[in-house]
Amino acid sequence: MPQVIDSLTFARDAGSLKGVLPIAGFSRLRDWLAGTAGDLVYRIEGAMSDRKRPRFLLEVDALLLLRCQRCLEGIQYPLKLRCVLECVGENEPLTPEEIGDEAVDFLPVQDKIDVAALIEDEVILSLPIAPRHENCVLPDAGRGRAEKISPFSVLKSLKNGKT
Ligand SMILES: [Zn+2]
Repeated sequence: MPQVIDSLTFARDAGSLKGVLPIAGFSRLRDWLAGTAGDLVYRIEGAMSDRKRPRFLLEVDALLLLRCQRCLEGIQYPLKLRCVLECVGENEPLTPEEIGDEAVDFLPVQDKIDVAALIEDEVILSLPIAPRHENCVLPDAGRGRAEKISPFSVLKSLKNGKT
């Protein structure tokens, strides 16, 4: 069910919202996934920051099935997203310190924030860029990193009668 909040009102009222959304419902996130089973649990809390800006604490938990960039099979990825978002007005320049503050993400003040879209944005931003299994299960999975295998270790295993 789409939920929409007004950033200023939600923060002023110290609003709190939580819910469960099916992973399959996130059309953009699906591009990163090898499967869409399961749900995503979220919680969002509003507060005013020290600078009197609307601020949200967003928590998202889910077990995502990312797609391995090497073998394209699924990788279980326990998502545990915790982020702080601060809304900034159009004519309110950010200081370099604020831009450099990795603990806080900024977004424009909006009277209609689509909670599901916000969650989807933040989840996608938090995903590893190129997820890979530590050891892919496919027989030819080693091809992509063959340069990392030392020829000496191959010789050694041949001598020992192992493959
Ligand atoms: Zn893999």
